[in-house]
Amino acid sequence: MTSKKLDSFLDENLNDLKGRGLYNVIDPLESPNGPKIKINGKELINLSSNNYLGLATDERLKKAAREAVEKYGVGAGAVRTINGTLDIHLELEEKLAQFKYTEAAIAYQSGFNCNMAAISAVMDKNDAILSDELNHASIIDGCRLSKAKIIRFNHSDMDDLRTKAKEATESGLYNKIMVITDGVFSMDGDIAKLPEIVEIAEEFDLITYVDDAHGSGVLGKGAGTVKHFGLSDKIDFQIGTLSKAIGVVGGYVAGKQSLIDWLKVRSRPFLFSTSLTPADIAACIKSIEILMESTELNEKLWENANYLKDGLKKLGFDIGESETPITPCIIGDEVKTQEFSKRLNEKGVYAKSIVFPTVPRGTGRVRNMPSAAHTTEMLDEALGIYEKAGKEMGLI
Ligand SMILES: *Cc1c(COP(=O)(O)O)cnc(C)c1O
Repeated sequence: MTSKKLDSFLDENLNDLKGRGLYNVIDPLESPNGPKIKINGKELINLSSNNYLGLATDERLKKAAREAVEKYGVGAGAVRTINGTLDIHLELEEKLAQFKYTEAAIAYQSGFNCNMAAISAVMDKNDAILSDELNHASIIDGCRLSKAKIIRFNHSDMDDLRTKAKEATESGLYNKIMVITDGVFSMDGDIAKLPEIVEIAEEFDLITYVDDAHGSGVLGKGAGTVKHFGLSDKIDFQIGTLSKAIGVVGGYVAGKQSLIDWLKVRSRPFLFSTSLTPADIAACIKSIEILMESTELNEKLWENANYLKDGLKKLGFDIGESETPITPCIIGDEVKTQEFSKRLNEKGVYAKSIVFPTVPRGTGRVRNMPSAAHTTEMLDEALGIYEKAGKEMGLI
């Protein structure tokens, strides 16, 4: 017999979510996650993936993955520290360090895992972490795992950060203090104020940690937010994912050699979980080579992003304060936002609604993620659908 307590917990909570219309139903794709997708037999223009550069379906990556499967098989066979380190893991890590302009890099199974791995490898209960209130869930969980004191500062509020850094330093309670931030914030598309963060970090000797999941491949001609500000030698930890612009799966930490050496002996997902598969590694290497050889895809991404943003603005939509391709279309009311997303979907655009508690109450939005793979025709068609649905609902 299985647990009755568990059954009642699950029934109660699932019914509660369903009753409040908050139970998320997942739509499986019947196609690759490209600029157009197929769901329930219907073709839709895809404005919801993180496949910024279209590399998830790139023929060059697919070929590299197939060749790696032929040469190495499908699994790494062990954790990295036993005998699951293939020569191509090291090749990938060297490429990542070049790509990020750092001494070294270490690869993990995902961006989420990087934050589980890296924070608790250096921070403990005698330390404090200054964390932007809008940081990604994996940063929040990684901070908790470290048992350090977590001190949240108001989103991108540098006065608040300085005050809290000063208080934490002067309290004498903490051994080390870290400041941690997303490079690009995923709901609004705004960029962290890294030059000011570095200045404050230098003043109080803070460890700097930037999770650039949405910045890599996008800002700094592809090299990311840290490079965008010319701060490659001033940030201690640069986290990236291999699953967004890079188009595959995995994550990495880039930084100085001694930091990477430490993570290889002390970060738990590296020591206790099998690493990336040969196909993933080979596709990632190819992807990074493409990004380092040419800025063509990056330029196309920005061209498409600006085109979509201008179009939505001209139609009269509120697109917020985004500084990156992430393009929110802010509707406000939660119910209206969900209805708008549904109507877009019926007319042929897949753009997810994002509402409280993911974003503050009353700022519900449909979030658009244009990519380098969209054609002008696709964007025009999407804008036409936005206009129709927006007028139908009296939003514009
Ligand atoms: C998406 C994201 C992650 C997770 O990356 P995965 O590779 O998908 O696990 C981590 N941090 C931030 C800031 C993200 O936006």
